[in-house]
Amino acid sequence: MRLTQRVLNIGTETSFEVLALARELERQGKNIVHLEIGEPDFDTPAHIKEAAKAALDRGETHYTTALASLPVRHAVAEFAGRQRGVEISPDEIMLLPGGKPAILMTCLSLLEAGDEAIIPVPAYPIYESAVRFVGAKPALIPLREENDFRFEVKDLAAAITPHTRLLILNSPHNPCGSILTREDLVAVAELAKKHDLMVLSDEIYAQVIYDGLKSFSIMSLDGMKERTILLDGFSKAYAMTGWRLGFTVAPKILIERFAKLAINIYSCISVFNQDAALAAVRGPQDSVKEMVAEFQRRRDFIHQALNNIRGVVCRKPSGAFYIFPNVKSFGKSSKELMQYLLNEAGVACLHGTAFGQAGEGYLRFSYANSMDKLEEGMRRVKTALERI
Ligand code: PLP
Repeated sequence: MRLTQRVLNIGTETSFEVLALARELERQGKNIVHLEIGEPDFDTPAHIKEAAKAALDRGETHYTTALASLPVRHAVAEFAGRQRGVEISPDEIMLLPGGKPAILMTCLSLLEAGDEAIIPVPAYPIYESAVRFVGAKPALIPLREENDFRFEVKDLAAAITPHTRLLILNSPHNPCGSILTREDLVAVAELAKKHDLMVLSDEIYAQVIYDGLKSFSIMSLDGMKERTILLDGFSKAYAMTGWRLGFTVAPKILIERFAKLAINIYSCISVFNQDAALAAVRGPQDSVKEMVAEFQRRRDFIHQALNNIRGVVCRKPSGAFYIFPNVKSFGKSSKELMQYLLNEAGVACLHGTAFGQAGEGYLRFSYANSMDKLEEGMRRVKTALERI
């Protein structure tokens, strides 16, 4: 069989590979603390589950439109717009099976072969994979640890060429837990307007943010709504990773193309998911607040625990549920350290290079796990690392 160069080029998410290694050790009887997985350990709020069950019981089991029904788009547009201080009309929004499809849909719609997309790195690996998949070139700019894992606007300006079409932003950030400030985004918006760039703004962790901070969207800045593709969804804030339910907000002409892509690939989201989305945006938000408060408690714990390990230095994340300690002092590659911690300490984490070469020298721990597991995990990590 001859495979196309296109599918041979496609990347993946290494977290699933580390999970498979950890599961194999568990099968052999080893006890593993899972700090590799990027999903909340909480259950989906009951009122959301009830709404989906009721939809099924009413017989909502048939095709729906590619964008999702008008009342649902209305409600989600109103919700997403209120959070960001922008008006979003129902023809500028589309529900998706997870937030993720917005990445490939954007690249398929905006990038020709040879075009360039700027990605601050380390980064969620699907960005680079999607850019390469469509034959475009990633232009990588560094997130600087000394700058709380934000990029320097001058690095961004220097990376722009006549071929640049797209800039990919992610705030709060996976894997670094950093957030872009309003000032950062004002400067980025000026560059986007000056060089006629589109911006894919991945805000999937917008509600998972700490210390009373509020996520700020580039979309809300003057002249940026028409340049922004927003990626958001229910996976993280409502503990709904397995439902596959997200959305994108983009200019109408792009949403029309995304709808055609959907019709060619999967037709529409599962219809009872629409009622779940309505319940999530219209229902009580207490569970989100409680979950975020718990994540903040865990963040405080793991930040201190990691900094108490000899040889580890670690910034305090402001959002998402990941922490990205610097482990360069151990003189091993981050992949070797990941394997060492998995085999010797029974702790699964991700090597920084799962997020590209720029992640060398770092590990990513997810603190979307119980306090008991985090305490046990950190005890094991400290003992194992201090033995090196
Ligand atoms: N964007 C980032 C930065 C993520 O970390 C993830 C999931 O881990 C996604 C997008 C995809 O979210 P979803 O599960 O809703 O497709």
